[in-house]
Amino acid sequence: MKTLRDGYERFRNGFWRDNRELYSTLARDGQSPPAMVIACADSRVAPETVFDCGPGDIFVVRNVAALVPPYAPDGAYHGTSSALEFAVTVLGVRTIAVMGHSRCGGIRALMAGPGNGHGDFISGWMDIARSARARVCDSPAADFETQCGACEHEAIRVSLANLLTFPWIAARVQAGTLELAGLHFDLASGQLEDVEPA
Ligand SMILES: [Zn+2]
Repeated sequence: MKTLRDGYERFRNGFWRDNRELYSTLARDGQSPPAMVIACADSRVAPETVFDCGPGDIFVVRNVAALVPPYAPDGAYHGTSSALEFAVTVLGVRTIAVMGHSRCGGIRALMAGPGNGHGDFISGWMDIARSARARVCDSPAADFETQCGACEHEAIRVSLANLLTFPWIAARVQAGTLELAGLHFDLASGQLEDVEPA
């Protein structure tokens, strides 16, 4: 907790104080971020840092490996899908970016394959990207690190395709009022690469 409490003290006496007008405006008027970012929960890839954004700038949902599940209104607990619904149908974001990244632990777990001991939830969640793993494993043999890098890119393509299974996303993309983008962030080089849909 010390890391969190010390950080909060710095924030309260620094950034918050410097931006109290902005926070007051956001509290009064609400948020209207132009973009939503779906990113990995990994501590190294915070979208607010990568995109140099402040309060109110981007609507963010983070999960293991930055995955978008397919549209499935089945009554289950869909955290990512409900964030999408709010961003698109209530806030009216004009861009949704899916940002994968290098050295992703979720993708490594997926590539390691079933029975790798990833507990109660991770394997089931990563099953969203099983077709990404299959595409990588179908290609000529490469070392594990190279395969993981390829799967990071393929998983972004799976998420881009899954976004279009949401009817209120597909309709807006078709109408030209919503843009989808795939991005891959390389931790070591700092490069942000565009990932085209499949
Ligand atoms: Zn990750």
